[in-house]
Amino acid sequence: MTFSELGLSAKVQAAVAAAGYTEPTPIQAQAIPHVLARRDVLGIAQTGTGKTAAFTLPMITMLEEGRARARMPRTLILEPTRELAAQVEDNFVKYGVNHKLSVALLIGGVSFGDQDAKLTRGVDVLIATPGRLLDHFERGRLLLTGVELLVIDEADRMLDMGFIPDIERICKMVPFTRQTLFFTATMPPEIQRITEQFLHNPVKVEVSRAASTATTITQRLVRSGKKDFEKRDTLRALIRDADSLKNAIIFCNRKSEVATVYKSLQKHEFSVAALHGDMDQSARTAALTAFRDGKTQLLVASDVAARGLDIPDVSHVFNYDTPHHAEDYVHRIGRTGRAGRLGTAITIVTPEDTKLLSAIEKLIGQPIEWAGNAISDEEASEAKRERRGAGGRPGRSSGGRGEPRGELRAREERSARRPDEQRAAAPRSAEPPAQAERPAQAERPARGERPARAERATRQSESSVSRDRSSARPAASEEADMSHMPQFLLRPVTYRGK
Ligand code: ADP
Ligand code: MG
Repeated sequence: MTFSELGLSAKVQAAVAAAGYTEPTPIQAQAIPHVLARRDVLGIAQTGTGKTAAFTLPMITMLEEGRARARMPRTLILEPTRELAAQVEDNFVKYGVNHKLSVALLIGGVSFGDQDAKLTRGVDVLIATPGRLLDHFERGRLLLTGVELLVIDEADRMLDMGFIPDIERICKMVPFTRQTLFFTATMPPEIQRITEQFLHNPVKVEVSRAASTATTITQRLVRSGKKDFEKRDTLRALIRDADSLKNAIIFCNRKSEVATVYKSLQKHEFSVAALHGDMDQSARTAALTAFRDGKTQLLVASDVAARGLDIPDVSHVFNYDTPHHAEDYVHRIGRTGRAGRLGTAITIVTPEDTKLLSAIEKLIGQPIEWAGNAISDEEASEAKRERRGAGGRPGRSSGGRGEPRGELRAREERSARRPDEQRAAAPRSAEPPAQAERPAQAERPARGERPARAERATRQSESSVSRDRSSARPAASEEADMSHMPQFLLRPVTYRGK
């Protein structure tokens, strides 16, 4: 298969050749003809296998006809994090070298002014995080009625609890007749069900089973005691002993842990930077750039860095914590072993984490090998007993979906999972100027305060209407966010007397 067989324009093919690609990846070969035929597509392929070009290349081909009008973008791409949105913009620069495309990036944490000026001039491609897009829309600066093509990248994440109301709103603002493309490496069944709400008669292009990990990644487990100092010791030993470690991303479950592990590594004189959603945007960008450019060897990060980031040459991923959600494991380790390169992913597991580990192995459909001694079933049961004896820490051990979690943890995680949508949070002193430019916080629903993901399974298995109704529960934080709700559900209910 060559790029010339896919129906891409000559100018796009020239850009692809200039990028050094000799043949399309499987997702590109299979999805591009359908995109060019204007079909809706649900594209599933492993991490690092070129999903971005699978939508950008046909988009650029299609955009050769027609031109942009002021404030009415022709295409829209939604991304879950600012960094990922910026990366997709870079892709348009690379693949659009032979075109005069106007691309605008609407992301939080930076000023509105430049973004607005671009919109006024008219854009072919709008790449946005949902929160900032809605901010522009609400200021009356943006019309989405000209959008011919909508791309939702990291689709399962975007249809997850935290984002879904925004996505539903945005989908109502774009024409019903638009073409819609979803791309992802993971697709839990309960989320796949809601994709039907957004896709019309889609072609499903599934290159590999959803949630299968890239074959170029060597995965290992390493046991550790559960105490923080023990885990930090284990991590340092892993870094020091790793085979041909060029650089590494170290994932922690919580932002507070990112900070602690970062400080500890710094104290031990490693070359390290930190990245999490509570940092201001300039610090986030600086950390990522330093890591990308090889100026720092280690990046300690929350799941804000788990999705989509394409740093071509990451040799190692370390999970300092076993992730709570099995999909996050797939995305985290997918930061290495990209575009056919080899990579190593090592996960630190404590006896308390064995349930999480089982969920991960079940999702990826294979056991992960231990480096060194495994944690025995007895040790795992012992940890469980100890936990129970200590009164239980529900947040600590919850593994599968649908289990109750400690509220604190749930909240922390929600905000970690929605780094761009921090409207709910009290303004922080370190916020960039953009924060102040936002509409009054009071107008905003507390978006961070959505129901815990634990409720998701039940809610999302219901029909779309009953899902809407359940989100209308009088949780104060949800009240203002009913714009996506069918009108008949918002009418006051009068009860007849008994
Ligand atoms: P995904 O979204 O599937 O995780 P990306 O779109 O980020 O993956 O692409 C991963 C890497 O593969 C990028 O660095 C990209 O430049 C490279 N790539 C994409 N398509 C090709 C191709 N046809 N041949 C070689 N490399 C490619
Ligand atoms: Mg991607």
